[in-house]
Amino acid sequence: MTVRSDCSETPRSPLSMEEALELLLARSRPIADSERIPTGSGLGRVLAEPVMSTIDVPGWDNSAMDGYAIRIADLAASGGRLPISQRIPAGVAGPPLKPGTAARIFTGAPVPAGADTVVIQESCVADGDWVQVPPDLKTGANIRRVGEDITAGSQVIGAGIRLEAQHLGLAASVGSAELTVRRRLRVAVFSSGDELVMPGTPLGPGQIYNSNRFTLNGLLEELGCEILDSGIVKDTLDATMQALADATERSDLILASGGVSVGEEDHVKPAVERLGSLDLWQIAIRPGKPLAFGHIGAVRTPFIGSPGNPVSLFVTFCLFARPFIRRMQGITGSLRPASVTAEAGFDWPRAAKRREFQRARLEPGKGSSRPRVNLYPNRSSAVLSSVAWANGLAVIPEDRALQEGDPIEFIPFSELTG
Ligand code: AMP
Ligand code: MG
Repeated sequence: MTVRSDCSETPRSPLSMEEALELLLARSRPIADSERIPTGSGLGRVLAEPVMSTIDVPGWDNSAMDGYAIRIADLAASGGRLPISQRIPAGVAGPPLKPGTAARIFTGAPVPAGADTVVIQESCVADGDWVQVPPDLKTGANIRRVGEDITAGSQVIGAGIRLEAQHLGLAASVGSAELTVRRRLRVAVFSSGDELVMPGTPLGPGQIYNSNRFTLNGLLEELGCEILDSGIVKDTLDATMQALADATERSDLILASGGVSVGEEDHVKPAVERLGSLDLWQIAIRPGKPLAFGHIGAVRTPFIGSPGNPVSLFVTFCLFARPFIRRMQGITGSLRPASVTAEAGFDWPRAAKRREFQRARLEPGKGSSRPRVNLYPNRSSAVLSSVAWANGLAVIPEDRALQEGDPIEFIPFSELTG
């Protein structure tokens, strides 16, 4: 075993959360490859080329309601009693409206030429082939105009957007059967630790189950990554170097959990250094420092190593690895999670030295009071139950004590995962 002196670490003042994120994002390179896929398979993919429309949507003026299409100018002479000259269901284009008549029309059907208003059926009295429409109608009412959603030639969805269900629907609405998306990001993952065994195997003395593998793979799957799982890697320099070397050629990014501290059993740092370069960033947050970031091999595959503590792994993934991945996937928009301000449901009597990201739950306030943020009682970064209980992270500022009722920042998990 290689014995290293931990005193050789150059002491550096810890980075703020923002500095660390900025440094990371500056090093994230979007993958270049793209592919054509059916629109129906696009969920969660990142658009590489914009979706353009060759058509107007709607393609013609159409009725917003079931009712009668009329011409306002015809009403004065008829007193609003009009013969029904045609029936236009959705999917049918009727002939021009005969002057002095009404067309029975249904939602989505094209308004016939010559009609300028649709009267909803509830305000009409039908009587065989005739209809009585009410007075005081507004010209143009209940008509959805040609191109009011999308005009031919315009961009419908920009490149760099992560496709959600509504984007797929929008692409389909302009007739796009295929989309050009970035290739899926290939992420190699491994867990370091001699104490780790997989669920399904009985635990020996001192052993624990490898929970990080499941957390990490789940988080990556939610991000639409292709996972190359190298499993559990023994706490030796050789095994760690081997795992890294294997992953380098096959993946766009390598993520490791555990072994990134500078203890004698932590081999990730020296292994990455031998195969490439590594920065060990001390970040002024809790849980989560340190974060290891580097590049491996001639192809310089980026590497992110998170602490092994299950909560630290989750939090550092959400705050750092996720935005890095999002940028690599080609997402162009802001990668900062949005937070809300709510009311602290707890006291925080002693100011924290580092900014804390505590597992918390945003809960509706009682009666008319504001929503409250409650903390999980056990704040240890080894307690994974806290993450499963929570629906987000409370951001506890550095250098400030808090009292129940104080405003507090809360980041919902919906902003941190997926
Ligand atoms: P390390 O970062 O390797 O020093 O590990 C810190 C703590 O996290 C130790 O208590 C480890 O046993 C635990 N740990 C490391 N890797 C995992 C893992 N894959 N699953 C669950 N716990 C882990
Ligand atoms: Mg370890």
